[in-house]
Amino acid sequence: MLPAIQAEQQILDLIHPLDAHLDRETVALGHALGRILATTITSKLDFPHWDNSAMDGYAVRYEDVQHCSRDRPVALTIMEEIPAGTQPHHLIQPGQAARILTGSVMPAGADTVVMQEDTQRDGDRVTIFTAPKPQAFVRHQGAFYQAGAPLLGGGIRIQATEMAILAAAQCAEVAVYRKPRVAILSTGSELVDLEQPLQPGQIVDSNRYALMVLVAQAGAEPIEIGSIPDDPAALKSAIAHAIATADLVISSGGVSVGDYDYIDEILADLGATIHIRSVAVRPGKPLTVATFSASPSSPHRPTLYFGLPGNPVSALVTFWRFVQPAIRKLAGRLSPWAPIVVNARTQQELRSDGKRETYVWGQVQVTNGGYEFHVAGGSQSSGNLINLAGTNALAVIAIGQTQIPAGATVSVLLVNGD
Ligand code: AMP
Ligand code: MG
Repeated sequence: MLPAIQAEQQILDLIHPLDAHLDRETVALGHALGRILATTITSKLDFPHWDNSAMDGYAVRYEDVQHCSRDRPVALTIMEEIPAGTQPHHLIQPGQAARILTGSVMPAGADTVVMQEDTQRDGDRVTIFTAPKPQAFVRHQGAFYQAGAPLLGGGIRIQATEMAILAAAQCAEVAVYRKPRVAILSTGSELVDLEQPLQPGQIVDSNRYALMVLVAQAGAEPIEIGSIPDDPAALKSAIAHAIATADLVISSGGVSVGDYDYIDEILADLGATIHIRSVAVRPGKPLTVATFSASPSSPHRPTLYFGLPGNPVSALVTFWRFVQPAIRKLAGRLSPWAPIVVNARTQQELRSDGKRETYVWGQVQVTNGGYEFHVAGGSQSSGNLINLAGTNALAVIAIGQTQIPAGATVSVLLVNGD
């Protein structure tokens, strides 16, 4: 059985990312949340755009105030007040100052700001009691960014912070990668839609709902194929349809060794190369990874196929651990693609049989002392989706390790971010 770390690397090596030119579209900035920049963004603007004040106070000439103190204060004449959004009019001459507010443009002639707390105002005169440092509280034009330099690089995912930067740079439209198309199908004759009354032996196809959302959160466009019974002919035509429409296909169920587990057989039948059949993880051991070589429907890259196990927790865990990194790379994002790992103190004892890398689901919380991991209460059975609520982390028990005591430090994968 393949160790998880090797499976992860092998999967990433199979991914050919979208092309920055062929797979590009332009979107309005307001619709760019979560999208991946396809080009390097530069701006014609310097940041700050002009010298400005970092404080409420008085813009002065340093040489006028460099020797002042409580005992030897210096009085200056206030020539004007410069509120935010206005242009100063006066050239500050020796003995003069301007009232200035945070963010306001520095007047010509002045090179230093004295903060209000170190002054006393009297009509159009201001007395300075403390010598500032030269150029104190002046944010110089171009100090944060100089026009023409790279502002944001291709491969960056646009979140609130990048939105703010792009808005400030007046990028009303941005070139982003198109979203990778990810087809999702569920397999199993026991599966029904959520509105359908359940007959004995039937269950709702809940994986579809989890996977549709996970795919969208990962920045891809989910394509809902639906649930397919364990019938080789029906499965074959559904999978053929899925690979013809998507960049990546995810199925759940039917990859184990049961009598009705047909997926691997059908993939081989359809001409796929099967790279992985099982990974040494719990939950999630049966995991099929296959590729279909480039074809008229996907001329530039092979189509990747993930056959996830059907158990609800196994499907989620294998998605977080192996599929999400693959989608991130495919989408054009810069690495790292794998989940973030942090050290956390486990609040409960963790156990494993030591044979496979074991993921225990639960919640990470930030406390004064760092991260704390709380195991989800109830059964840690891969068939139990009920206690998945609130899960944001998976504690990892390495192969060979059978027990981690409460209070010990453990590696934890953060699975709810993006
Ligand atoms: P399988 O991997 O097909 O052997 O399925 C393993 C277990 O997961 C069985 O109990 C299935 O009923 C269940 N299962 C399979 N697919 C789904 C699904 N889409 N939603 C919820 N449970 C599922
Ligand atoms: Mg099944």
